[in-house]
Amino acid sequence: MAERIIPLTDHRSRTLQPPLAALEAATRMSATGFLGDTLGRPLHDLRISVTDRCNFRCSYCMPKEVFDKDYPYLPHGSLLTFEEITRLARLFVGHGVRKVRLTGGEPLLRKNIEILIEQLAQLRTVDGAPLDITLTTNGSLLARKAEALRAAGLQRVTVSLDGLDDTVFRKMNDVDFPVEQVLEGIAAAKAAGLGPIKVNMVVKRGTNEHEILAMARHFKGTGVVLRFIEYMDVGATNGWRMDEVLPSSEVIKLIHADMPLMQLEPSSAGETAARWGYADAQGRHDRDAGEIGVISSVTQAFCHDCNRARLSTEGKLYLCLFASSGYDLRELVRGGASDADVTSAIGHIWSGRADRYSELRSTLSPDTPGGTRRVEMSYIGG
Ligand code: SAM
Ligand code: SF4
Ligand code: SF4
Repeated sequence: MAERIIPLTDHRSRTLQPPLAALEAATRMSATGFLGDTLGRPLHDLRISVTDRCNFRCSYCMPKEVFDKDYPYLPHGSLLTFEEITRLARLFVGHGVRKVRLTGGEPLLRKNIEILIEQLAQLRTVDGAPLDITLTTNGSLLARKAEALRAAGLQRVTVSLDGLDDTVFRKMNDVDFPVEQVLEGIAAAKAAGLGPIKVNMVVKRGTNEHEILAMARHFKGTGVVLRFIEYMDVGATNGWRMDEVLPSSEVIKLIHADMPLMQLEPSSAGETAARWGYADAQGRHDRDAGEIGVISSVTQAFCHDCNRARLSTEGKLYLCLFASSGYDLRELVRGGASDADVTSAIGHIWSGRADRYSELRSTLSPDTPGGTRRVEMSYIGG
């Protein structure tokens, strides 16, 4: 088994809090509906982590050895309330955010999450359109909750599923959770109209690469878009090793040899997944057969058009999945800052953003900011 790196300190509490007041000193920024960072990347997508807890222990995310019963999860009072989240989301929307993804930890463990969705569904983008609201889940509670989520205004879901073989799946979630119940969750989401559904499969060489073809065959022609994610070096607890990354190019080669594929245009700028469609006998995209996606975060960095901000469970704003520090918006909100104050702070923070970790990965040492001293995926959200 791979040697694990066990963190000796809690990086959430070590989080640096850049002095927001200093950022404010120069000029006050208001919302214009467009906010670019130092590389011209717009703020478009907001990922909100609603809990740092999870009922799975996927070894690549929350390994059991670290996330045990003594792990210091955030106390309830530290979590942003639904009202605080909705207020912050509204201010982000003023800067041009169009899409909100709820994540975690396992977002369906957050009590009354439907109420938050109802509140977010009331927001309108700067063009007056409803927000695109989606949620990433491990699917364990989806069969029970799909209808209520849809009724609350959720439009789509992404379900994480790392294999169809029950033994492989139980081992990967490491809590002996049966694959059948996740498949039931996907079926319930489909029936409730939470589509198009995406399924995310993290591929780990030596662990589940033999599930790739079975997964592709299973979801082909169902309307579900299966996406293969390269195993990433997020956090500091999963003992990541480059030799356990299976490059997306190999995934494509494997599927193409069995079911011919053709590359499709990206559906939008900043799209994380490269799209591949199943080809018909004439070499055209067979729309009924559908498409797959590959997210090559390790082998083909897509930082150049990364338009995603992340709001942690306790209200810290992170500018990159691999950041080691966040900006404490909860402190502002609970300190009585006005909407204009918070809007200006967000404006200053994003306009100073230069993060592009994946593009720099090979040049960073563990001790440089953005090296391996990072917050966990379960805290910041995927
Ligand atoms: N619990 C939910 C779930 O699993 O869908 C939401 C949170 S989870 C952190 C979000 C996504 O991050 C999941 O699709 C998961 O597979 C992915 N993820 C977690 N750790 C990862 C890693 N080391 N490399 C690649 N993807 C990872
Ligand atoms: Fe939980 Fe999702 Fe992380 Fe797995 S990937 S441990 S389901 S938060
Ligand atoms: Fe975006 Fe950071 Fe990922 Fe690059 S490494 S794509 S900047 S989250």
